[in-house]
Amino acid sequence: MKFISTRGLGATDKSQAMDSAEAIIRGLAPDGGLYVPEELPRVPADFAAQLAELDYARRARRVLSLFLTDYTEEEIAGCIDRAYSGKFDDGRIAPVKQVGDKSVLELWHGPTSAFKDMALQLLPQLLSTALKKTGEKNRVLILVATSGDTGKAALAGFADVDQTKICVFYPDGGVSDIQRLQMATQKGENVAVLAIKGNFDDAQTGVKKIFGDEAAAKELAETGVQLSSANSINWGRLVPQIVYYFSAYADLIAAGRIKAGDTVDFTVPTGNFGNILAGFYARQMGLPVGKLVCASNANNVLTDFIQTGYYDRRREFFKTISPSMDILVSSNLERLLYHLTGDPARVAAWMKELNETGGYDAGENMLARLANYFWAGWVDDAKTLETIKAVYEEYGYVLDTHTAVAWAVAEAYRSKTRSDRPMVIVSTASPYKFSSSVLEALGEKAAGKDAFAQLEALEEKNPVKAPVGLAGLKGLPVLHKTVVEKADMMKAVKEFAGK
Ligand SMILES: *Cc1c(COP(=O)(O)O)cnc(C)c1O
Repeated sequence: MKFISTRGLGATDKSQAMDSAEAIIRGLAPDGGLYVPEELPRVPADFAAQLAELDYARRARRVLSLFLTDYTEEEIAGCIDRAYSGKFDDGRIAPVKQVGDKSVLELWHGPTSAFKDMALQLLPQLLSTALKKTGEKNRVLILVATSGDTGKAALAGFADVDQTKICVFYPDGGVSDIQRLQMATQKGENVAVLAIKGNFDDAQTGVKKIFGDEAAAKELAETGVQLSSANSINWGRLVPQIVYYFSAYADLIAAGRIKAGDTVDFTVPTGNFGNILAGFYARQMGLPVGKLVCASNANNVLTDFIQTGYYDRRREFFKTISPSMDILVSSNLERLLYHLTGDPARVAAWMKELNETGGYDAGENMLARLANYFWAGWVDDAKTLETIKAVYEEYGYVLDTHTAVAWAVAEAYRSKTRSDRPMVIVSTASPYKFSSSVLEALGEKAAGKDAFAQLEALEEKNPVKAPVGLAGLKGLPVLHKTVVEKADMMKAVKEFAGK
C-alpha cells in the first residue's frame, strides 16, 4: 500500500507515493500535507467476529498488516510485542467496561495513564524498524514541546529505542507536579528532558524554529543526526489507533452484547481529531459503526464545523478542566476533508485560507457528507463536573474530565436523535491523572493537598486503585534538573545530539 499527500503529492505522479516506512520517517509530506493511504483496505464481513477470539496483540497484527504492507509479518509482530507487552497494567490492553447502558473503552492502561500511550508506544517501534528497513544510517532525534502529557508519553515510548534519541522541552513551572515528576524521573540512555524559562508557546515556538533552521539541520546531518517530530499528524501515530475500534467491537461480540454485524456508535472526546479519525477509518474499512459522536469542551470549533460546515478559529481560547482538548486548530481534520472530497486541490485551498484568514467554508456538500458519519456536541466545565458526580453516584464508576465530556455529549446525542444503538464511550485518561478536578466533582477538597495526597484521597472513593505509574513516582530519583533560557534551546539540542 502506498501513501500520498492530502495536498496532492503522489496522487498523479506515482513516483512521489511513499511506502508506509518512508511516510513514517518523514512525518509530514514535502508539500505540507499529511500522508494518507492511497486506498483504504476493506475487511471481510466476519473480520470482527474472527478478532473476537484473539488477544489485543493478535488483533493489532491483523489490522496493522492491512496498512503496513512493506513491513514483514515478523516485523509487525515484533513492534507490537515491544510496544504493548509488559507495559500496560491490564493484560487486555484496551478493555471495555460496562457502565449502565454504555460501554466504556478504557485506553489509559499504558505507562502514562492516558490514551496517547496507545500510539506513542508503537510509533517508536515502527519508526526504528522503518530506519532499519530503508537502510537509513542516521539517528533520528525527536523534538517535543509539551504542555505536559504528550512529553511523557513520547519519552516512555522512545526511551532506549534503537537509532532514536528524544529531547523534550516543557515550560518551567507550567506543568502539574505529577507531570513534572513523570518527565524528570524518565530513565533511558537516549532521553533529555529540559525545562525552559518561558511558557508552552515559547517552548513550541523554539522547537518550530529549530525545525525550520536549515543550517542547523545540515550541521546535525554531518554528525549523523536527523530531526523529526512525534506529533499526532504522523501516520505511525494514527494507524495504531484504528486497532482499538475493531478491538472494542470484537469485545462486545465476545461478551454477547452485540451480534456480529450490529451497528454501534462511538463517542470520542476530541482535540486534534486523531482519535476520532481512526474511528472513521475503521468505519470505511467495513466495521459497522453508526455515528461517530465528536465531543468537545468550551473550545467548540469542531462542534460548529460539523453543524455548519464553516471552520473558524477566530474565537476566544478557553483553558478548561479537560486541557488535552483545548485546541483551536485540529490538524487531523485535513485528512478527513481529503477522504470526503478526494480532491487535494480543494483541501490545499481550504488549508491556505485557514492559514491566511483563520477560517474556511467547506460548503453544503461537505455538510451533508459530515452528517452521514458524525454528530457533534460540547459541554462546559460545570456540566463536566456534574457528569462525573452523577455517573459516580449512579454506578460507582469514576470518569476523568475528558471522558466525562464524552459521556455528557453521548447523552445529548441519544436524547436528541432517539438512537437506541449500543454506545461505546472512548475513555482517554485515568481519573487519577486529573485528580484535583475529579475530587472537586465528587465534593472532596483538593485544595492544599499535594499531588500524592490527592491520589490517596481519590483512592478512598474509587474502587479502582491509582496506577503505579503515578503513585510510584513518589520517591523515584529525579534524573533531569536542567533549566535553559529559551534563547539556548538550539544549543541544548546540539549538545545532546553530539552525545
Ligand atoms: C490527546 C487527548 C485527547 C484528544 O485526542 P485527539 O486525538 O487529539 O482528538 C483527549 N483526551 C485526552 C486525555 C488526551 O490526552
